[in-house]
Amino acid sequence: MSWTSPFSLPGKWFKGNLHTHTTASDGLLSPEEAIAWYRERGYDFVALTDHWVLSEKTSVATDFVTIRGTELDGPGYHLVALGIDSLPARELAESPQALVKDVVAQGGLAFFAHPYWTGQTSADIAPVQGILGLEVFNSVCEQMIGRGYARVHWDDLLAQGRRLYGFAVDDVHWKHGAAGKGFVMVRAEELTEEALLQALRKGHFYASTGPAILDLRLIHQDDGQLALFVHCSPCQEIVFFASGPLGRRFVAEERLLTSASFHLLPEQVYLRVECRDPFGGVAWSNPIFVQDVLKA
Ligand SMILES: [Zn+2]
Ligand SMILES: [Zn+2]
Repeated sequence: MSWTSPFSLPGKWFKGNLHTHTTASDGLLSPEEAIAWYRERGYDFVALTDHWVLSEKTSVATDFVTIRGTELDGPGYHLVALGIDSLPARELAESPQALVKDVVAQGGLAFFAHPYWTGQTSADIAPVQGILGLEVFNSVCEQMIGRGYARVHWDDLLAQGRRLYGFAVDDVHWKHGAAGKGFVMVRAEELTEEALLQALRKGHFYASTGPAILDLRLIHQDDGQLALFVHCSPCQEIVFFASGPLGRRFVAEERLLTSASFHLLPEQVYLRVECRDPFGGVAWSNPIFVQDVLKA
């Protein structure tokens, strides 16, 4: 297995919000109003994910698409499910594993919503197979109680070798000021539900609350070591996260940073990068698994 940078792929970058509530459950805007809100602000797609209500495939315009979705929950967890044809049976919710199995069997994908808000630990998440990732940022949870970031959950799981992607979402209900904060940028060949879901499944995306990642690739440093290079919009800090203490933080001095690189070592297990701007915005790359690239 090797690693393909989404920046090396053909296609375009599409911006979207994958966690949205409407009047179909506990949100204040109608589905049409929610779609219009995102479309008017330059987003390319949105997934309406009302609680136990599966949104329908709607055709909006050639330059904007919706992804079918819902938010499911059971004891101690919430789960966003995308790209499914029918709502899973309620009784499956007793265990997240049973729900995820159903979603995946339908050809859909699932990720855990706001684990920090829910009180889930990485140990709760670790046994669940088949999930695509977790929300590393959830806007409404940050707005309401300051528990929107789930970096530690993600890093714990990555260090155990779990291949999980990080999502940033609004989880907007249109009453807490959460709209327009967390989004994903997806690299896909075309703007269709199918192409977007396929790209998400492969990790061909990054999450953000502001900054742009402009390139991510492997380079050979002057000392011959393989390194991960990132190019981003001007940032105050660029931080590489790896297993335990094996990452590195770079901080701007006289001028803001637009690139950084950091070596890959087998004991790191994984490497991911966060680009943090001076206004509190963060962009999160998905992880690279070091053994994939050092062996390749
Ligand atoms: Zn939730
Ligand atoms: Zn929600």
